[in-house]
Amino acid sequence: MKIVFYDSKQYDIDSFEKENRDFNYKLKFLDFKLTIETVELAKGYDAVCVFVNDIITEPIITRLHELGIKIIALRCAGYNNIDFKSAFNKVHVVRVPSYSPYAVAEHAMALIMTLNRKTHKAYNRTKESNFNIGGLMGFDLYKKNIGVIGTGKIGQKFIDIANGFGMNVLAYDKFPNTNLKVTYCDLDTLYRESDIISLHCPLLKETEHIINRDSIKKMKDGVMIINTSRGGLIDAKDLINGLKSRKIGSAGLDVYEEEAEYFFEDFSNDMISDDKLARLISFPNVLITSHQAFLTNEALKNIANTTLNNIKNFKDKEYIDNEVCYQCKQFGKCSKDEKKPC
Ligand code: NAD
Repeated sequence: MKIVFYDSKQYDIDSFEKENRDFNYKLKFLDFKLTIETVELAKGYDAVCVFVNDIITEPIITRLHELGIKIIALRCAGYNNIDFKSAFNKVHVVRVPSYSPYAVAEHAMALIMTLNRKTHKAYNRTKESNFNIGGLMGFDLYKKNIGVIGTGKIGQKFIDIANGFGMNVLAYDKFPNTNLKVTYCDLDTLYRESDIISLHCPLLKETEHIINRDSIKKMKDGVMIINTSRGGLIDAKDLINGLKSRKIGSAGLDVYEEEAEYFFEDFSNDMISDDKLARLISFPNVLITSHQAFLTNEALKNIANTTLNNIKNFKDKEYIDNEVCYQCKQFGKCSKDEKKPC
């Protein structure tokens, strides 16, 4: 199998080359995104491997199909960046459903800890021999209410961590997991009662802008909002207004709805033309990381191994593991032969 990787960084190259010792595929790494302009470079390959900000639209899928690409391997869990309705019957799409829920859950807690205890500010102060602690006041997490929206793999690990801090967890999920020892409630109750709200649901039509002017109105004054899921879950304009009015006390964002142009790249010598992003960066009580919640050694190893294995399964097996299928909306049980029902 010959695989071309788009939007790859050195850490992708390192982890994929290491895991590929067991697969021996031919890998080509490109450091730019898959777009209608760059799609031609997939010519001569069997598979393309893409990441979260490669937006795979219908024209790109059609061209990939014409070029003979049989499988698109997403090296991520989320699949909101692909028009998989267009992909159906043209090209298979696989993803990595779980590589390290700990990585993302721990990063969400890192955002909370940093925002609350302002260690990012303390670090800068003491670096300059400024030992003043004025303005660094936080609050105990112990006994505070934390609202978790989405109690899947990452949400569950995050709940375990929050429980470890002695927090009261309020959870909302469209499909509650009865095996979890957690108090489920409706969204309005979660908004009303939570001191901190952390988002762990996927970006779907129904969850787009779930955090908006109306939901923010229902929240506690001074609420902390954490998003390590997908940027589109929050209406950034409404978040900014909530911060300006001081309704929202702080926000920790690993994702941003218009992140594709900026995240993962160095703009330190450039200008940011996205006014919403620039405004968010300017708040002292907003902490932005650029989609790095997944970035641990363990997660990268699992991403590389599962992705190569997904491609191997496509090559060797009748059924493809971890397929994102438009027809059956099930994962992991799709027939390779498109004519058979999934
Ligand atoms: P998961 O599929 O295991 O869990 C998602 C949960 O959301 C499920 O329990 C599901 O029932 C629930 N859900 C579905 N629709 C909902 C709705 N309308 N309202 C509330 N809950 C709903 O996924 P996961 O592995 O826990 O990942 C969660 C999200 O985290 C992914 O969709 C992805 O976007 C994001 N993610 C981010 C990073 C990062 O680096 N920042 C890395 C991995 C995943």
